[in-house]
Amino acid sequence: MDFETKLDRLAEVAVKVGLGLRAGQEVVMTAPLEALPLTRLITRHAYKAGASLVTTFYGDDQSTLARFEYGAPESFDTAPAWLFEGMAKAYGDGAARLAIAGDDPALLAAQDPEKVSRANRARSKAYLPALKHIVDFHINWSILSFASPSWAKMVFPDVPLETAVAKLWDAIFAASRIDEADPVAAWNAHNARLRDRKTFLNERRYSALRFRGPGTDLTVGLADRHEWAGGSEAARNGIVCNPNIPTEEVFTTPHAQRVEGRVTSTKPLSYQGTLIQGIAVRFEAGRIVEATARTGETVLHKVLETDAGAARLGEVALVPNSSPISRSGILFYNTLFDENAASHIALGQAYNKCITGFETMSEEELVEVGANRSLIHIDWMIGSGEVDVDGVSASGEAEGLMRAGEWVI
Ligand code: ZN
Ligand code: ZN
Repeated sequence: MDFETKLDRLAEVAVKVGLGLRAGQEVVMTAPLEALPLTRLITRHAYKAGASLVTTFYGDDQSTLARFEYGAPESFDTAPAWLFEGMAKAYGDGAARLAIAGDDPALLAAQDPEKVSRANRARSKAYLPALKHIVDFHINWSILSFASPSWAKMVFPDVPLETAVAKLWDAIFAASRIDEADPVAAWNAHNARLRDRKTFLNERRYSALRFRGPGTDLTVGLADRHEWAGGSEAARNGIVCNPNIPTEEVFTTPHAQRVEGRVTSTKPLSYQGTLIQGIAVRFEAGRIVEATARTGETVLHKVLETDAGAARLGEVALVPNSSPISRSGILFYNTLFDENAASHIALGQAYNKCITGFETMSEEELVEVGANRSLIHIDWMIGSGEVDVDGVSASGEAEGLMRAGEWVI
């Protein structure tokens, strides 16, 4: 199969599996400028599937960098609120949302962490109304990746750029099931396997998960009325979508006040252009009270200070160490891929979707059952072939879920 065919298949998977696009729906897409060949194919598949209108907003790494180099220091609290309000309006009116990721993971590594943090904070705040439609699944949405040269160079630094890009594409195609005889059918089978896992965990009703491994002894209390999610999801508009392509995780909402112990990261976290490695934190009553990192510690501390919920957990996810992305042995420096190589936790905002009955609950009730609130949501990996996971019942009995990183249920 040649590259063009594979790229076209990825575009088809984005529209049919990722969005599950319904005829007559609008599509709002965001993408790096370099992803143009892919966004054109997606646009064609979207119109073939009956899209009423496809609107794409392009971003450019070099233009972002220009802001950090030449922008006035006092301007870093500015965000395009007008644009995000428009997006929120589009989602409120039923548009589907497709995001193409692939920006340079180390773009802002050399920039002033203070400016980076202020810019991110302003952006997150302005984006919140649009984000709410997405994370609460008012609409069908999906995110997938494009192998940009800057990203490829970071993942495969020792080979010529052209080879690096080709290798990254191969990894994206394999992880996205594009190489299978019928990618859409392969996704249906994969979604069915994830559904079985979710059903098992939902029936168990654990009150906590316990992670043990090198530098880790962490008890993550689960939110009251928590529900496990993963793979395809039915949005509230009735459309079944796959929010992440690829995806291997099952995940739920921890209790923001009930996390105790120490945990060490097992993979580097690439956050808005900074690489944070060797994270070690200690939790007390749900909050991080000690945090160190081998690299990027200043940025990590800034992240934790974003707001009151930034030092608490909003997600816990289980991924076997044998997942195809983990087996590839590649460090992608991209959460969309790396989070599917290992069990992980996320700092910040919880998914309301993982609370049973969230549709009719007030903000206070959601907080009451343990759903964390924050402007951020940042996943980082805590699983590996050396980490065991137990499910702990309300009466305190532990049951093995994962041993040496693999499911034992
Ligand atoms: Zn996750
Ligand atoms: Zn997450």
